[in-house]
Amino acid sequence: MTSLASLLFLAALALVAAAWLWGPPLVAALRRQRVSSQPFPPAWREVLRRRMPAFARLPADVQLQLKKHAQVLLAEKPFIGCAGLTISDEIRVLIATQAALLLLNRRAGYFPGLRQVLVYPGSFVVDRTAVDPAGLARDERRVLAGESWQQGQVILSWDDVLAGAADPGDGRNVVIHEFAHQLDQESGRANGAPFLGRRERYARWAAVLGAEFETLRQRLARDEAGLIERYAATDPAEFFAVVSELFFEQPAALAAGHPALYEELRLYYRCDPLGW
Ligand SMILES: [Zn+2]
Repeated sequence: MTSLASLLFLAALALVAAAWLWGPPLVAALRRQRVSSQPFPPAWREVLRRRMPAFARLPADVQLQLKKHAQVLLAEKPFIGCAGLTISDEIRVLIATQAALLLLNRRAGYFPGLRQVLVYPGSFVVDRTAVDPAGLARDERRVLAGESWQQGQVILSWDDVLAGAADPGDGRNVVIHEFAHQLDQESGRANGAPFLGRRERYARWAAVLGAEFETLRQRLARDEAGLIERYAATDPAEFFAVVSELFFEQPAALAAGHPALYEELRLYYRCDPLGW
């Protein structure tokens, strides 16, 4: 009898531990399942038709995934209007659906560190103090289309979101750029290496992206034009965000000119926009 009691006690203990460990993720998974199985509202579909011409040209399974991921993002992430902007479904749906491109075919979370999306009507101005390598602090004023903070905020200019979605082939997309920073920031401070899984993946990622980064800097020093824009040479974090934009918006040019880089991004994003 005593052994039965201790067995029951152990079983109860195991149940409590399992509930503690697996309960919250299970609840989240069930909630996401429920949210993403709702029909995608016709008004939201209309937003994509008018504002994101690339959407209709995507394969049906990609469209379906984007809609489901967007529904989850919209259920979980608050959108906040800044400088007088009133948040509408148009704003929310257009941002969430483009951000969902970065989640395709992956079992990663829904930008777990992201707590809010802040949206300005247009470019916004930030003042901050920059410290140069000599230790001199300067007050900087910069005009931005977007920003991503490790504390859990993505900040976007609605004008730039619209422009990015309207031209799907120009290689510029502020939503992809800032949400790529969020992925990068999941593994600590943005450094151009998001969470990749196994150790050997990091070594190859660093080798390929490091070599491409160096090639870009040399090209810029020679003042030569090329696919990857100057801003990508700022640092490895900006390089990753800029080439993520190219991966989704100009996959043919990126794959032709930078095949190893394209391959690393294809493995990371688990999709192949070249075939879309
Ligand atoms: Zn950036």
